[in-house]
Amino acid sequence: MKFSQMEYKRIEVEPTKEKLAQLLNTLKSADSADAAFAAYKEIDDFGKYVGTMFALGYIRHTLDTNDEFYDGENDFLDEIGPEFEPYWQDITKALLESPYRTEMEATWGTLMFDKAEMDLKTFHPDIVEDLQLENKLGTEYDKLIASAIIKFDSKQLTLEEMVPYYEVPDRNKRKAAMDAVSSWFIKNADELDRLFDELVRVRTKIAKTIGYDNFVELGYYRMERICYDRTKVEAFREGVVKYIVPITTKLKMEQAARIGVPTIKPHDNFFLHPDGNAKPTGTPGEIFTHGKKMYHEMSEDTAKFIDFMMESELFDVLTRPGKSAGGYCYNIDLYNAPFIFANFNGTSGDIDVLTHEAGHAFAAYEARDIYPSDLQDYTAEVAEVHSMAMEFFAWPWMEGFFGNTADKYRKDHLAAALVFLPYGCMVDEYQHKIYEDPTMTPAERNAYWLTLEAKYRPYLDKEGNDFYSSGRFWQRQAHIYENPFYYIDYCLAQIAALSFWAESQKDYAAAWDKYRTLVKMAGTKPFSDLLTDAGLASPFVAENLKPIADEAVKWLG
Ligand code: ZN
Repeated sequence: MKFSQMEYKRIEVEPTKEKLAQLLNTLKSADSADAAFAAYKEIDDFGKYVGTMFALGYIRHTLDTNDEFYDGENDFLDEIGPEFEPYWQDITKALLESPYRTEMEATWGTLMFDKAEMDLKTFHPDIVEDLQLENKLGTEYDKLIASAIIKFDSKQLTLEEMVPYYEVPDRNKRKAAMDAVSSWFIKNADELDRLFDELVRVRTKIAKTIGYDNFVELGYYRMERICYDRTKVEAFREGVVKYIVPITTKLKMEQAARIGVPTIKPHDNFFLHPDGNAKPTGTPGEIFTHGKKMYHEMSEDTAKFIDFMMESELFDVLTRPGKSAGGYCYNIDLYNAPFIFANFNGTSGDIDVLTHEAGHAFAAYEARDIYPSDLQDYTAEVAEVHSMAMEFFAWPWMEGFFGNTADKYRKDHLAAALVFLPYGCMVDEYQHKIYEDPTMTPAERNAYWLTLEAKYRPYLDKEGNDFYSSGRFWQRQAHIYENPFYYIDYCLAQIAALSFWAESQKDYAAAWDKYRTLVKMAGTKPFSDLLTDAGLASPFVAENLKPIADEAVKWLG
């Protein structure tokens, strides 16, 4: 079915509550293992239906935030989601207490039950209104960012449309572009501070209502982190500081020398070569044609996948006013259809849509037959392994996207993967501090961000740019507002992706097989076990980052 034909129906609150209560009752009153399995199947199906309406409402809203109907529906969905939560929690409890749990665990494994136990730790009936407020504040941030109009180059541009200007050879123009965006953030600083302050407050209140000291522990439970805790994350961040920061600092110094500037200013950060960065050579249509060819040549599975995506029209990639910023891949459960949302801007980022986002979509597509659907769902770091590793598996086809600058692209891609790691860790460390000490003032938060800049991005010369030098850059990072503690997942995944890359340099087929093993397992195992089964080293041992860093340095050299 094509995306446009997928019908959106409003989830009516009372009938849905009744339905959930009835499903709970059926599960509870099951008097045989068969009956319990049947009851759970019904729950799974209904969950998919509800999830699909949420997905369609959200996706169509982000496609045009000015569309009044879906704007209303999105607000409505923000509202009602938390109202169903007590019902889902009761179902989860009933599942955990089922007299047939042994039979279910024998069939499905214990992971979904472990996840269910964790899920119960994230909820309390008294937090419903606070969850609604948290959703609403996140949406307000999203709208504020989407509403940004920057007057530049005699045009009215969105933040996304400003991105190409950070890469132009004319340094004055880059600076002017960066300054224009920075001014917008400075102009909206009070509102951005207010939104974040309220988010920190409401998240802290939620955590305390459930019984935690602060939001940090709850944040980990929300991310369903079964196999690692903050101590392990700290060990990982230490590894990044020890083995990656020296490399990225050196890479940035080389970049400065190459482009002929004394230090890397914010407006130099994305300008990598005096003769310009690698740019896609084709029109969006040509990019898609080559993307299709690439997936056809990569493997039989990826060929089937890309045909399905295109026939079902599951891409919306052209940028336009009113469309939300960024990119995502959101699975529409009922149709097993992963929808890809992006904002093409003429930079190499456009190709990521066909590699990174398509990596997510490929994994979702491959997991379509796994039941219960809970086991199709992997945690965020697993999801990002799917996507970030796909970026590297796509390397042999880069000539078709970048022409004779493909090698430049590959080098920049690898360097960017390394440069990202310290930034991601910085975002993560920042959030730990913020939620441990929720009474910090906005000024204290900015000051703390600056100490992290010095630790993780010592090369960045912020002088002369108020937005950066006042420690406000974090306000551009949507995850900090909308998805607390999500960010480290990208870093953990990047290390796994780099491991796949290192192996693919020696033996592409063997690396691809390992990747397929990992993708096929979907969410049937926790992150660490998936890595072990795919033959990758744990990122939670700082020393394990060294061989990957060495390999990258060697290749870049
Ligand atoms: Zn991703």
